[in-house]
Amino acid sequence: MSEHSDLLVVGGGLMGSGVAYEAARRGYRVRILTKALRGVAHEVAAGMLAPISEAEPVLGALTQWGLKSLEQYPAFVEALEDYTKMSCGFRTEGAIHVAVSRDHLSQLSHISDTQERMGLRVERLDSDEIRALEPRLTPRAIGGLLLPDEAHIDPQALFQCLTAAHQRLGVDTTVIDQFVDWAGGADRVEGAVVIRQGEKVRYRAEATVVTVGAWSHSLPGLSLLPMRPVKGQVILVKGEPLVSRTIRTPDVYVVPRSSGRLWIGASCEEVGFDPEPRAGEVMELLWEARRVLPGVSELIFERALAGFRPTLRDHLPAVGPTDRPGLWLSTGHYRNGVLLLPATIHGLLQAIDTGGLPDELQAFSPLRFVSCTLQTAQSMRITSPRSAKSIQ
Ligand SMILES: Cc1cc2nc3c(=O)[nH]c(=O)nc-3n(C[C@H](O)[C@H](O)[C@H](O)COP(=O)(O)OP(=O)(O)OC[C@H]3O[C@@H](n4cnc5c(N)ncnc54)[C@H](O)[C@@H]3O)c2cc1C
Repeated sequence: MSEHSDLLVVGGGLMGSGVAYEAARRGYRVRILTKALRGVAHEVAAGMLAPISEAEPVLGALTQWGLKSLEQYPAFVEALEDYTKMSCGFRTEGAIHVAVSRDHLSQLSHISDTQERMGLRVERLDSDEIRALEPRLTPRAIGGLLLPDEAHIDPQALFQCLTAAHQRLGVDTTVIDQFVDWAGGADRVEGAVVIRQGEKVRYRAEATVVTVGAWSHSLPGLSLLPMRPVKGQVILVKGEPLVSRTIRTPDVYVVPRSSGRLWIGASCEEVGFDPEPRAGEVMELLWEARRVLPGVSELIFERALAGFRPTLRDHLPAVGPTDRPGLWLSTGHYRNGVLLLPATIHGLLQAIDTGGLPDELQAFSPLRFVSCTLQTAQSMRITSPRSAKSIQ
């Protein structure tokens, strides 16, 4: 492939891989530039597709967009699985929220009131009804909610499918040592300059998309983007399948995989880029998982992992053009990057194709961080003595 492409994707995580796949299907020549790092979010993500569980009236635009993305999932997965003849582990059995204490019960009642007010489908369950659906749940479950419209997917299998599709579609993935700068003049980004295998290489492109997740503010001109990593730890156990649906309490979730594994998560920690799982969180998660699903004690402990949720100041994604022509962002998906993948890909590519941001993406425009996009950031650095850190 030439070093000139139609679309250059910087960041080869789930978002970058999804955008590259769909763009290549539409006939773009696509190249991905990525880095090998620890703590990449999709490598540890549980894969809950949970816009209803996470619904909050103040996050109305996000909930609507999440619902739209969930709706797009079956067709997205079907096309990808047909093309690759591989499975993404997509399952539509729904999710159950379980209360094992009075405290939990009142939290679930708040969740169901909210969901009903927002017109979302939720069924209240008593203890017998819960155990009729998932007999291995603790007899101490005192109530719960069934969210029949939610689903889950195996994000690691999804990533493998996307990578296999890239090979057939001719998407070129290059692992770089260092990102140096944007290519092009002061007014327009026309690709990137990187160090690869010790040499400086320039990759030119008509459009360049940043999908480097929690590392977004490390790129030139984006240092004032109010991005931070929110660390999440998860535990993988395997053995006899205990449940067929995602099980959640206010303290833990347990997601079943077709491989027989259970994905137990997750912590939410503001500790910077610490990629190590820590004993305290592992202990808490296992304790909470066993509380709702006692059979967890008998499963084989495989490993604990940690990853970084890309989190912007308002906890909303940033998808769309920056104030520097040629440069686009798709980042900040926080806890919902897997869920939002199909809607993000389609919205972003529609915007790149037509030059206009679709209505449902307006709330997520990167330009809402007026002082944090490229050109303004550059002029701020000249006029303001404040460091990037103090602004975040
Ligand atoms: C514990 C945990 C559980 C989660 N569970 C769920 C869930 O159940 N449902 C859900 O919807 N979401 C979930 N998420 C969130 C989801 O995983 C993320 O929102 C999503 O993976 C973000 O994708 P991304 O591609 O933006 O970032 P990442 O997946 O982190 O990928 C970023 C990529 O950019 C590369 N990179 C970094 N710096 C550079 C650079 N300078 N140059 C080139 N490349 C670079 C990295 O190596 C990486 O490949 C979870 C996240 C965590 C941590």
